[in-house]
Amino acid sequence: EMQKKYIDIAYAKSKRLEKLIEDLFGFTKMNYGRISMNVGKVDIVKLLGQLLEEFYPSFADKDLTYELKSNVPSQVITADGNLLARLFDNLINNAIKYGAEGKKVLVQVLAKDDIVTVSVTNYGYVIPAEELPLIFDKFYRVEQSRSTHTGGTGLGLAITRSSIAMHHGIIKVSSKEGEGTTFTVKIPLSYIPS
Ligand code: ATP
Ligand code: MG
Repeated sequence: EMQKKYIDIAYAKSKRLEKLIEDLFGFTKMNYGRISMNVGKVDIVKLLGQLLEEFYPSFADKDLTYELKSNVPSQVITADGNLLARLFDNLINNAIKYGAEGKKVLVQVLAKDDIVTVSVTNYGYVIPAEELPLIFDKFYRVEQSRSTHTGGTGLGLAITRSSIAMHHGIIKVSSKEGEGTTFTVKIPLSYIPS
């Protein structure tokens, strides 16, 4: 029994190390421009639907529900599908991890002119205003998250921001009592390589 317990602990720790190494590699490659983009046609509405479905067990675990709203049934954009999936994976993961008391997560797509806007909103914990500009920095974790045991290395949003920049897009955050925490991503429909 004792052995099993320690093996489980060692396994969980090695999993965390594996994630940290992957994140660090990903982040360094991205920041030194050594990541080659694999650009193609991606239906962003479909991609978000699939991601949310895959997260179903995590939503159920935290007693959360999600809603996906879009002003279009599908929206094809020119982008790197893998990078896109990873960056929204980060945002949804955060919404689940930090929005556990909020009961629901809302993902909204708004395609207008030549830009698609995706917002991910969770309720519950509000990020203090003075910390908002810092959360995209690598290794930065809000005080509250450092003291509670949500795990994480603070690389998720740094990687997310870099991936969005590679698509010539932007990301913003707002967090207010009553309104919840919203991460808003804007990406041009067609990626123009620089
Ligand atoms: P990981 O590297 O595993 O993603 P992380 O989740 O701590 O670790 P980031 O995703 O970069 O790192 O987020 C940085 C910090 O911003 C988090 O520690 C948390 O304090 C805060 N944060 C991020 N998303 C949310 C959210 N949706 N609601 C509340 N706080 C958030
Ligand atoms: Mg994260």
